Amino acid sequence: MDVDLEKIRHNTRTLVDRLKARGIQVTAVTKAVCGHPAIAQAMRDGGAMGLAEARLSNVKRLRRAGILCPITLIRTPMLSQVDDVVQACEASYNTEASVIAALAAASRRRNTVHGIFLMVEMGDQREGIRAQDVGNMARRVEAMPGVALKGIGANFACLGGIAPKAAKMQALSRLASEVEQQSGTVLQTVSGGNSANLPWALGAQATHRINDLRLGEALMLGVDPITGAQIDGLYQDAFTLVAEVIETDVKPVRLCAGRADHPLARLRPARDPSETTRLLLAIGHQDTNAAGLKMPAGQTLIGATSDHLVIGTHDPTLGVGSEMRFNITYGALMRAMAAPDIQINPHKTRLGLTASDAHDRGKHPALV
Ligand SMILES: *Cc1c(COP(=O)(O)O)cnc(C)c1O
Repeated sequence: MDVDLEKIRHNTRTLVDRLKARGIQVTAVTKAVCGHPAIAQAMRDGGAMGLAEARLSNVKRLRRAGILCPITLIRTPMLSQVDDVVQACEASYNTEASVIAALAAASRRRNTVHGIFLMVEMGDQREGIRAQDVGNMARRVEAMPGVALKGIGANFACLGGIAPKAAKMQALSRLASEVEQQSGTVLQTVSGGNSANLPWALGAQATHRINDLRLGEALMLGVDPITGAQIDGLYQDAFTLVAEVIETDVKPVRLCAGRADHPLARLRPARDPSETTRLLLAIGHQDTNAAGLKMPAGQTLIGATSDHLVIGTHDPTLGVGSEMRFNITYGALMRAMAAPDIQINPHKTRLGLTASDAHDRGKHPALV
């Protein structure tokens, strides 16, 4: 995996500047890259206020690499991990009173104060407290030594796939003010959601109390997660998956009949099967989501198994030992970054170079 840190920094800087004009800060989410420290640092260099992670193991990786900025756990902590959570994270998103109480006890043992964000359920039907219960929960947090209420947040379009609209954002703003009245604390942060919120956040409507977004996909891949549309002025190719050709053959592509559940039964034959060169690449389902690889022009994905990718091509220059480069979707990125056999090569290209210059420079990447 080639990772162009300069493109990630640029994407972050661009969105940080655009959102700043709307009164919104960016918290960079590193879960898709398993908390890769150099990528997190590129996001920080681009102006992200802090980092957010879903998994404690990834937070620990960031800390081991010497990253000192505030890190928020955005998946509600496991009760079994509260001690490590208060040690590694400044704050966490929470939905369960028992977990918050355990976090408070753990912080008191360490003589610290852990920040609490209350996650509100506003329609995605994944995590969250019901809006009518948030005020009550806020009061309970306020009464607990060891924790401090930092803000509230909502999350959209993860499970449900529906983009948040202005009315939802206004309801969250109103809820923030109600919670302040009920609990008697000022909420520093009202976090509106993830990359799916960008069309709203950069649109014409007032942002009211929303002053934070937690962004991952948009910073890394420069796209709107719901529509897949490219975001103006952002790079879509900061990540490139490189795979090696291990066999080439001019074979007719035949569908195998008989077993509907066999992987080859899903073959999508190339347009002219009899003349297609078939390439075998040393990468498979164990390394990534094959359907999330964007095929370069002239190549067709024929199929994938756990360790192989089969591609049809009319390009005669692609011999054994040559490399094929793919742009990827979020699902393919996430899987590849967590796969043990994918070597991650972060590098910095000077922006403005042509693609082939960048490729040459990328041949001697620093390994991290
Ligand atoms: C993953 C996640 C995000 C970031 O989502 P992107 O679509 O990558 O921007 C934000 N908040 C929560 C709670 C998440 O789980």
